[in-house]
Amino acid sequence: MNTQFDPPMANTGQNPADIFIRNADWLITVDPQRRIFTDGAVAISGDRIVAVGKTADLEPHHSSARIVIDARNRVVLPGLIDCHIHTAFQLARGLADEVSAQKFLFERMYPYEGLLSDEEGYWSASLCVLELLRNGVTTFIDAGNYTAAETARVVGETGVRCAIAKSGMDIAKSSFGSLPERFQETTERVLETEEETVKKWQGSYGGRVRPWFQFRGIPNSSDALVTRLKELADKYHTGVQTHACFSKETVEACKTQFGFTEIDRLRRLGVLGPNVLLVHAGWVSPHEFECLRTSGAKLVASPSSSLHNGYGNIVMGKIPELLEMGVSVGLGSDHASSGIVDLVQEMMLVTGVYKETRMNTTVLPPERVVEMATINGARCALWDDEIGSLEPGKKADVVLFNTRTPQWQPLYNPLANLVYSANGSSVDTVICDGKILMQGRDLKTMNEDAIYREVARLIPGILQKTKLEEKVRPKWPVL
Ligand SMILES: [Zn+2]
Repeated sequence: MNTQFDPPMANTGQNPADIFIRNADWLITVDPQRRIFTDGAVAISGDRIVAVGKTADLEPHHSSARIVIDARNRVVLPGLIDCHIHTAFQLARGLADEVSAQKFLFERMYPYEGLLSDEEGYWSASLCVLELLRNGVTTFIDAGNYTAAETARVVGETGVRCAIAKSGMDIAKSSFGSLPERFQETTERVLETEEETVKKWQGSYGGRVRPWFQFRGIPNSSDALVTRLKELADKYHTGVQTHACFSKETVEACKTQFGFTEIDRLRRLGVLGPNVLLVHAGWVSPHEFECLRTSGAKLVASPSSSLHNGYGNIVMGKIPELLEMGVSVGLGSDHASSGIVDLVQEMMLVTGVYKETRMNTTVLPPERVVEMATINGARCALWDDEIGSLEPGKKADVVLFNTRTPQWQPLYNPLANLVYSANGSSVDTVICDGKILMQGRDLKTMNEDAIYREVARLIPGILQKTKLEEKVRPKWPVL
């Protein structure tokens, strides 16, 4: 069985493709029928998939492709989609451990990011994309930062796909905390700079970079800012994202300042909608469920950051129920400051933490979790017409896992291995937009040594200006 597609200006599926992936032990399409092909094949012409099916059916048309990839001992999936990652925090791994949510932000991460130079932002994003790519991520939604141009540049150079945003907040002092100088902006200034960012980067790098609007957190954003950013997102046909309901402190700060819980406040402002992405959404009250469902707003679960920071998003979280209600929920690794930037590990975490807290093994089965990391992620990114599944006509974003690794053996059900035992180190080959970015773990567009060298050069300056050196030293004697 195979599916052929005739995109305009592209290969008809009858002419040899540019890239032909064949003999895949397992090809997991995540298409509307959720078909899995054994001995599967994918044909790619330019930046698009032109055919998906059995190798025997596609081989006659595509065996003379310019590049043929033998996918024996490989599991092939759509490129993974990380729906929430702070590229600017990549140089902050280890700078904010064992502190409360409030201290994490206001004493560690905000001061760090408040002082981050463009050069540091560039190398932070480079290191972040390196880790994402090595772990099979082809698309990510940057959480928003003050070095968005650097993030865009890195994405442009490396060949991955992302949504960027310039951060925005207009309440310098909330009951949650006070912002560093760099983050203190007027409502007008935030609107102006975010709109400039969207105008500048819309359609850039062949459409691989999509600019969004952002308000960083609900307690530090005024009603005027929130409503006008949503209007701008509608005007430019793009998304608007925010952190929401991620800790007890933010929920309480919102109630103290505005009189409503976070989602309820957004509902009353009339800003919930399909182009709104709410990140974490752990402390959602039952009375807020229905408006999340009817509004079409999207959510992101980030289990590792809640585990690292003790946010309570799992204990309080209702992600399985919200998914059952039809809410689109993606997965996000959040940032290196909470450790893991590996969406494959996030898959195990999200199912494991809910199984444990519910004492129920049937919660979030692997099929549902793989959807979160692929097609749901594409919906969250407002990109599901082009990515998130392996289907003719979609962009050619493909990841191959090497099953000749202990974590993939024995292999009865590839979805189970992927979710329960694999990690990103078994990613072998990554293709994005029809270009091979990694093959046999060799990177084609990134100089890994240069990144490590630049990071090592920048770290002393970061420690010095953030004055965090004493706080992050090992507690055991260093000789
Ligand atoms: Zn975040």
